[in-house]
Amino acid sequence: MALNPKRTVAELKELRELTSDEHGAQRVAWTDTWVRAREWFYGKLAGLPVEQHLDAAGNNWVTLAGRSKKTLLLGGHLDSVPNGGWLDGSLGVLASLEILRRFADGYDGTPPATVRLVDWADEEGARFGRSLFGSSAFAGTASIEADRGRTDREGVRLEDALRRCGVEVERIGEAGRERAGAAAYLELHIEQGPVLEGLGLPLATVLGTKGVERHAVTFLGQEAHSGSTPMGVRRDALAAAAKLALEIRPIAARHKDAVATMGSVKTFPGIVTAVVGRCEATLDQRDLDAGVLAAMHREAREASERFAREERCTVEWSRIWSIEPVPFDAELIGMARAAVREVTGADGPSLPSGPLHDAAEVSRAGVPTVMLFVQSLGGISHNKIEDTKEEYIELSVAALDRLAEKAANWIGGRGGE
Ligand SMILES: [Zn+2]
Repeated sequence: MALNPKRTVAELKELRELTSDEHGAQRVAWTDTWVRAREWFYGKLAGLPVEQHLDAAGNNWVTLAGRSKKTLLLGGHLDSVPNGGWLDGSLGVLASLEILRRFADGYDGTPPATVRLVDWADEEGARFGRSLFGSSAFAGTASIEADRGRTDREGVRLEDALRRCGVEVERIGEAGRERAGAAAYLELHIEQGPVLEGLGLPLATVLGTKGVERHAVTFLGQEAHSGSTPMGVRRDALAAAAKLALEIRPIAARHKDAVATMGSVKTFPGIVTAVVGRCEATLDQRDLDAGVLAAMHREAREASERFAREERCTVEWSRIWSIEPVPFDAELIGMARAAVREVTGADGPSLPSGPLHDAAEVSRAGVPTVMLFVQSLGGISHNKIEDTKEEYIELSVAALDRLAEKAANWIGGRGGE
């Protein structure tokens, strides 16, 4: 069976038809619609010479045995956010399926390396707030102690929702067994940003996922009456925060691909007749380089202290969350670039990913990893208007196939077991 990227587009539309309503995709992990999406997917495996099972964390594995027991992993996620798009995650799964079919048909049924498709469980964390659930269990970075107490908006416990889907939280660590033999991981995903559209290009090689420094930044001044307090003696916490909000842009700009966002600002007492005595802001800074991330964090901190002094306030920082940058594998990056060149006739760009992906967890587990991005129209995702030109979807399947071919030979050529 030759590679048929048009079939991937048709199957993505079939899945959309089955699991969306007028507000978008509803394949939220651990819900009936998600289970229905997976059952539909199982139907697609009929007639293929593959083994299929769910691991202890609910990840779905489909294995095509090859000459080497070393395995090439191809992945994505069928789960979506509520009111999500038709491509986020599902493109990776269905493109991988098409490539699995092509491998099953070539090589007299025995590819140079064992090829495994994985549909990760609960990438989005939309219901319980725990993103990368299945891939972190695979990687051995998940701690169920931190997640056990989680509930959804209706008060349903994570533990109970998972049990309905055949997953026991006590045992999710056993998903780490699937790491045996894993020699490379490839993931195709929509970009979810505007860079490729801005360049007028369909495909990019992903260099890694950016690290994140996420902090609460609280400025403390003095509440005072808005009528009786002269401007010159005010200690306005919002004025200091506002200066920082403007300063994070030039700080990030000094570091090329870095981004910084002040996403939340709360003022106290928060009434129209009082100078702000306390301002609680959040700062989220991201970059692919750990050194750059550290420098950017330091610069923002110094700036905040300067602005606090200027406004006769004080400032306090506390870390909300952080994750280190995850650079992808240099050899696989080279193969991904070559694959993009072969299907488009030109070099594509290489970009870091701002959003986290399952690929970051797989890479943290020590499996050589790379991703491909395909252009997102308007840079929009997590929304029903999420879209990509069909011709670009087809190109992306072809590029993943070229990349999988190179990676399978690379693995198979590195000596048997
Ligand atoms: Zn995704």
